[in-house]
Amino acid sequence: MSLRPTLDFLLHDWLGVENLNQRERFADHSAETFAAVLDTCECIARDKYAPFNRLVDTQEPHFDGEKVVLPQATHDAHKAYAESGMLSAAQDHDIGGMQLPYTVEAAANAFFAMASVSIGSGMLTTGNANLLMKHGSEAQKQVFALNEFSGRWSGTMCLSEPQAGSSLSDVLTRAVPDGEAFEADALGPRYRLKGNKMWISAGEHELTENIVHLVLAKIPDANGQLVPGTRGISLFIVPKKMVDAQGQLTGVRNDVALAGLNHKCGWRGTTNTLLNFGEGRYPIDGQAGAVGYLVGQAGKGLQCMFHMMNEARIGVGMAATMLGMAGYHASLDYARNRPQGRAVGPAGKDPAAPQVRIIEHADVKRMLLAQKAYAEGALALELYCARLVDEHHTGASEAADEARLLLEVLTPIAKSWPSEWCLEANSLAIQVLGGYGYTRDFPVEQYWRDNRLNMIHEGTHGIQGMDLLGRKVLMENGKGLLLLAGRIQATVERATQNPELAVHAHALGEALAQVGAATEAAWATGVPAEALANAVPYMQAFGHTVLAWIWLDVALVAHGGADTAARTGRLTAMRYFFHYELPKIGAWLAVVSSRDATCADMPEEAF
Ligand SMILES: Cc1cc2nc3c(=O)[nH]c(=O)nc-3n(C[C@H](O)[C@H](O)[C@H](O)COP(=O)(O)OP(=O)(O)OC[C@H]3O[C@@H](n4cnc5c(N)ncnc54)[C@H](O)[C@@H]3O)c2cc1C
Repeated sequence: MSLRPTLDFLLHDWLGVENLNQRERFADHSAETFAAVLDTCECIARDKYAPFNRLVDTQEPHFDGEKVVLPQATHDAHKAYAESGMLSAAQDHDIGGMQLPYTVEAAANAFFAMASVSIGSGMLTTGNANLLMKHGSEAQKQVFALNEFSGRWSGTMCLSEPQAGSSLSDVLTRAVPDGEAFEADALGPRYRLKGNKMWISAGEHELTENIVHLVLAKIPDANGQLVPGTRGISLFIVPKKMVDAQGQLTGVRNDVALAGLNHKCGWRGTTNTLLNFGEGRYPIDGQAGAVGYLVGQAGKGLQCMFHMMNEARIGVGMAATMLGMAGYHASLDYARNRPQGRAVGPAGKDPAAPQVRIIEHADVKRMLLAQKAYAEGALALELYCARLVDEHHTGASEAADEARLLLEVLTPIAKSWPSEWCLEANSLAIQVLGGYGYTRDFPVEQYWRDNRLNMIHEGTHGIQGMDLLGRKVLMENGKGLLLLAGRIQATVERATQNPELAVHAHALGEALAQVGAATEAAWATGVPAEALANAVPYMQAFGHTVLAWIWLDVALVAHGGADTAARTGRLTAMRYFFHYELPKIGAWLAVVSSRDATCADMPEEAF
C-alpha cells in the first residue's frame, strides 16, 4: 500500500495545489514539477530511509570519547536528502532554491517522516536557516543560512535548559559583550555565552562540517542582573566551530561542549544532547565563553523564534501524522494476512470451518478504520495548514491576513491533534498485531515510541491547550475563531445540499455551536485559572470539531468522484469519525463549560 495516491488526492483533487503556479512566485512550476519533487523524495525515502529505521533505533548514537558516532546509514540518508535540494526547497532561485510552495514541500517531506522519522531529514536545519533569512544580517544569511541550505552545515534550536522547559522566561544562559569592540564583528555583535542547554536535538554529530546553534540567552543589565520574564531574552548564533566572514572554518573550536547524550524512549536515530556553553573546555583567546553573534535586536529573541513556530509546529504535526500512517499501513498489511478465529454465523461459530483473516473481524476493522480516520484526517489538516502558509506568504493582502489569523488558531491543533490521536493510532496498530505487536520483531512498537515525543516537544500538550484557549481564540477580539467558524459553516452549507452528507453537516453545525458556547462559558467569570483549568479537554473537543470539518470537506470532493475503493474508504472513514469520534466532544466540553474544578481543587496531600 502506498501513501502517494492519498497525497495526490489531497493535493490536487482537494486543495487544487497546481493552481498555485498562477502566482508569480511559483510561475516556473507545474503539476509535473510538483510530481517530480514527490517522486524524488518518495524514492530517496524508500531507498535511504525506510530500510534503516530499525537499525538506527537499535544502534543508538554513542560518544567514543572524541566524537558522537552514528550509523553509516544516517550519513548516507542525510547526504541524499541534502543533495535532493529539499533543504532550500522554498528559497529563491537566485540563492539556489526551488521556490517550491510550502504545501508541496510539506507533502514531499511526509515520505521521510513515514520512512524513518528517527533518522530525521532537515526540519531543524531548514527552520534555523529560514529564521536567519528573516531576522539575520546580510552576513549572517550569507555565512550561516546559505551553508545550511546547501547541507554543508546543519542547525539546532537551543531553547530549553534543565530548569527552563515550558517556562522559557527562566532561561539562565548569560551573554555578555565580548570586549570593547564587540559590535564591530562582521558576523554581528559578538558576545560570550555561558550556560547549559538541555534536550538539544542534533546538538552534536559528525554528519556535517559544522553545527550552527541558535541559542536563547539573556544579556545582563547594568547591575549584572538577568531581566525577569521573556523580555530579556535574546537570540545568538553560536557555531560549533569558529568561522570567518567568508564562511571558512578558522580551525578554532568554539567553547561548546557535549556534556552528555540523552537516551530516549524513541526517535533514537537523532542525537539528543546536553550542551555546556562557555564552561572553558575550549577556551578562545585564552578565555572561557562560547562566542555568539546576536541575531536581530537584543531582547527580541523569543519573537524571532516564534516567527518560525507555525512551520515548526506543522512539521511536528506532520511527523506525528506520518508515524500514525506508518502504523496504519503496517497493521493493515498484517491484518490482511493473519488467520485467527472464525466468523460468527447465524448459529454461532463453527469450529470445523477454516480460520478467517483477522481483517474480517468487525473489531479489527474498527481499529483499522480508527487509524485511517486519524492518520488520513491529520494529513489533510496538515496540508490544509501548509496551504494557509502559502496563502499567507503569496496571497493578496486580505486573503494573506485571513490565512495568518486562521493559522494562529489552527496551529495548536495542527501540532497537538496528531500528536495525541496518531499516537493512539499507533497503540491500535500494536493491538491489531496482538502479542507480535508488542515485540521488537515488528515495527509498530517503534512507531509508538517514536511518536510519544510529539506531545512533549515544541510546547507540551498542556501548553498548547492554554495557548489555544488562553490566547488564540481570544486574539484580535476573537477574529481568528470567527474566521474559522465561517469556513466550517461554509462546508456545513455545501454538505447540507447533499442528501448523503446532510446528517453529518447537521452534526458538525451542532458541534461548532457547542465549541462556541463552551468558549464563552469558560471565560464567563474572566478568571484565567478557572477557564484554563480544563484547557486540554477544550483543545480535544476543538480538535475533534476541526477534524470533523476537514473530513466532511474531504468527503464533499470524494463524493463527487468515481466509484472506487479509495472513494468508499474515504467516505467510510468520514462516517467513522462522525459516528465514533465527534460525539466525544460532549464530555470534554461539559467540564469546560461548567469550569469544573475537580482537578484544580484536588489537595496535594490527597493524591
Ligand atoms: C527528544 C526531545 C527533543 C527535544 N529537542 C529540543 C530541542 O532541539 N531544542 C530545545 O530547545 N528543546 C528541545 N526539547 C525540549 C522540549 O521542548 C521540552 O522538553 C518541553 O518544552 C517541556 O519542557 P520540560 O521537559 O522541562 O517539561 P516541563 O516544562 O517541566 O513540563 C512537565 C509537565 O508539566 C506541565 N506544565 C509545565 N508548566 C505548566 C503550566 N504552566 N501549566 C500547566 N502545565 C504545565 C507540562 O505540560 C508537562 O506535562 C526536546 C525534548 C525532547 C524530549
